[in-house]
Amino acid sequence: MEIKELQDRIRRLLKEKNAIMLAHNYQRAEIQEIADLTGDSYELSVRASKTDADVIVFCGVRFMAESAKILSPGKTVLLPNADAGCPMADMIDAGELERLKSLHPGACVVSYVNTNADVKALSDVCCTSSNAVDIVRAVPADRVIFVPDKNLGSYVRQFVDKEMIVWDGYCPTHHHVYPEEITLLKQKYPGAPFLCHPECRPEVVGLADRVTSTSGIIRFAREDPHTEFIIGTEEGILYQLRRNSPEKRFILASHGFVCPNMKRTRLEDVAAALEEGRYEIKLSPTTIEKARVPLERMIDMGIAAGQK
Ligand code: SF4
Repeated sequence: MEIKELQDRIRRLLKEKNAIMLAHNYQRAEIQEIADLTGDSYELSVRASKTDADVIVFCGVRFMAESAKILSPGKTVLLPNADAGCPMADMIDAGELERLKSLHPGACVVSYVNTNADVKALSDVCCTSSNAVDIVRAVPADRVIFVPDKNLGSYVRQFVDKEMIVWDGYCPTHHHVYPEEITLLKQKYPGAPFLCHPECRPEVVGLADRVTSTSGIIRFAREDPHTEFIIGTEEGILYQLRRNSPEKRFILASHGFVCPNMKRTRLEDVAAALEEGRYEIKLSPTTIEKARVPLERMIDMGIAAGQK
């Protein structure tokens, strides 16, 4: 079936089922094109919790759909492709976090939203890439266990005067971009600011003109007077950047900036999800209740703004 035909079919199904379609900034362009909302995972979950729709179709990866379910337990949340997971979120499980907590009693657990629900359920507060520094600063503890991203943890560490016990996880897509690639691009495009996501390795982040979340990158590129930018995050963001600032030029920092999990979801999956009600996110009431606490605490701390 043609792309346009599939898109029309999905829009019809969304209406019929009183469903809302959310798409992360890293999704395929043809998916972002017809979504009701696009944005980062946190932004999408929070906005989805305020909708009247009965069904949320989350085009992203599993932990994002889980967060939507945690914040909207009464709604049906569908993840169109069951294999769309996040390797970084899977780098720590509940048992590993339990052990870490027992080694550091009294430490406050700050978990990046890129964690699975059972890990959130054991955390004190969540954070996003844009509020991580503020959250770690604000928690009432001098010792912080930070999971799962070592690169975001290392970025935060520069700005806070606390002991940070950082898990050894990373995002394979962001971690496998190297400073040499950035240095070459900076030579080739000397006037272009390098906008970088903090999931990149510290040597790459160190070369950035601006370190921020995906929403922060989109905002900065729209408002900044430069006309060329080097983009240090997953290639799906180019769709939003070009839509928001069609007159500007965006150079992806690396050919490797593609998250295979984010690309798993196709229009066919979205149509099938709506037609067959698959794949529904199921979490136990206890997990929902416990995982909701750190997410809501982050919101209550009033520093939840942009995010990943
Ligand atoms: S880009 Fe990285 S953190 Fe985001 S979903 Fe893909 S693997 Fe996970």
